[in-house]
Amino acid sequence: MNSVVIGSGFGGIAAALRLKAKGHKVTLVEKHPDLGGRARVFKRNGFIYDGGPTVITAPYLINELFELFKKNPRDYIKLSPLKIWYQFVFEDNSRFNYSGDETEMKKQIEEISKEDVKGYEKLVNFTKKIFDKGFTELADVPFDKPLVMMQQLPALLKLKSYKSVYSLVSSYVKNEKLRRVLSMHPLLVGGNPFTTTSIYGLILYLEKKWGIHYSMGGTGNIIKGFEKLMSEVGIETIKGHEVTKIISNGKKVTGVQLNNQTKIEANNVICNADPPAVYEKMLNENKDNSLMFRWKKNRMEYSMGLFVYYFGTKKTYSEVEHHTIKFGNKYKEHLDDIFENKKLNNDISYYLHRPSATDKSMAPNGQDCFYVLVPVPNNQSKIDWSVEGEKMKNLVIDKMEKDLMSNLRENIVEDFYLTPDYFEKDLNTKYGSGFSIQPKFSQSAYFRFHNKSEIYDGLYFVGAGTHPGAGVPGVLSSAKVLDKIL
Ligand SMILES: Cc1cc2nc3c(=O)[nH]c(=O)nc-3n(C[C@H](O)[C@H](O)[C@H](O)COP(=O)(O)OP(=O)(O)OC[C@H]3O[C@@H](n4cnc5c(N)ncnc54)[C@H](O)[C@@H]3O)c2cc1C
Repeated sequence: MNSVVIGSGFGGIAAALRLKAKGHKVTLVEKHPDLGGRARVFKRNGFIYDGGPTVITAPYLINELFELFKKNPRDYIKLSPLKIWYQFVFEDNSRFNYSGDETEMKKQIEEISKEDVKGYEKLVNFTKKIFDKGFTELADVPFDKPLVMMQQLPALLKLKSYKSVYSLVSSYVKNEKLRRVLSMHPLLVGGNPFTTTSIYGLILYLEKKWGIHYSMGGTGNIIKGFEKLMSEVGIETIKGHEVTKIISNGKKVTGVQLNNQTKIEANNVICNADPPAVYEKMLNENKDNSLMFRWKKNRMEYSMGLFVYYFGTKKTYSEVEHHTIKFGNKYKEHLDDIFENKKLNNDISYYLHRPSATDKSMAPNGQDCFYVLVPVPNNQSKIDWSVEGEKMKNLVIDKMEKDLMSNLRENIVEDFYLTPDYFEKDLNTKYGSGFSIQPKFSQSAYFRFHNKSEIYDGLYFVGAGTHPGAGVPGVLSSAKVLDKIL
């Protein structure tokens, strides 16, 4: 059985490894000269910048890929649990250290709002129920038949899937600061907490179940570990070549064609590339796709875009935690502008990553390495990032100077940034969205792009745009779905 995997994000690599373990001959093709997709690494002047994922949850999903080949994950990667998971900073500069230490959590909740401690406990219990259903039971189940979805609907409705995460949290907790903290998880997978189905509240419990981890040497070291494993088990990797066409005989996929005209025959083609871009650019969209499927694809709503500013400083900022989330004053308004109005808002909320807080090897001695991520509208906005990029960079430096790091600007020794244009042009993602389609109820499970193509035989999907969705645990689970289908 010949299988070709297009793309080397976490989902593509996991798919390649799982198919190899089943005995397929596997070829993985990646457009870039390096693997990882959103988890690529940028190394500059002694600073190591993880391009994307930094918060590692559900580490067993990573470990089991090594274990498939009877290898010890610790011979390849080192994951360290973090004590403080996120430090939330509010507009009045008060802080909340979010962690797995329940006593400490309740103490801080009590200081903010005594009456919310009980509600917090009840919320955690409820998210466990969502987790048991939405993650343990369904994350690796194929949703390619309507019956599977219909069978799950009563249980999902019982779990209040019609509510948003913010509204679910608000039904348990009264204080606005706590509501923001406990409902922010959809943002980690590209959704708006005010509109994302409460099913994604399961992330709150998933973090508690296995903790939050950091990969020593950066997330890039997990990709490096996988690359070593793929080479040891005989997966052929073609880097620096883009698949331009998926070849089919009628509705049966027979292989792929690369940008250098090379053709590779295959029984199965597994796309880790963004599904809408695959259907629109690599296949015969109008001829082959049914009206129904085109309607489904065209009505999809896309996740937010990301502005990511990577920078190194000539001094260390030891008071800054490993993961910081700063809420702007007009938090909801900012999110409305991103998701609905598709325009920029100066009152930004942002996430700051400081890996050198845990791992000194990420920056030269006595210096510090960071990235700051600002959610922005995706490219449906038509924002001209060649103009707005520099302005956004200056805005976020100003904010960080005021909120967290004094004299930041004069201490930055090198920097660069990525905008939705990078996600659109370099990573081939429709509208340059950070996380493919949004995690709404109407775009989840059966309603998402199917792992087994709705249109073509022999065509499969893994990664953020398919079931169960974005985030490292999600895309690793999508490869488990594939494992079950094939
Ligand atoms: C800045 C940022 C921070 C994040 N932080 C976290 C976090 O802390 N924790 C977490 O769990 N998740 C996080 N995420 C989400 C997570 O990184 C992604 O959901 C996940 O990594 C996506 O993996 P994927 O398998 O969908 O593939 P992707 O990473 O999207 O990779 C797809 C690959 O396909 C390649 N490709 C596309 N088209 C072609 C073609 N035609 N030919 C060849 N190759 C092609 C691309 O070059 C790319 O390498 C973050 C994402 C971003 C962007």
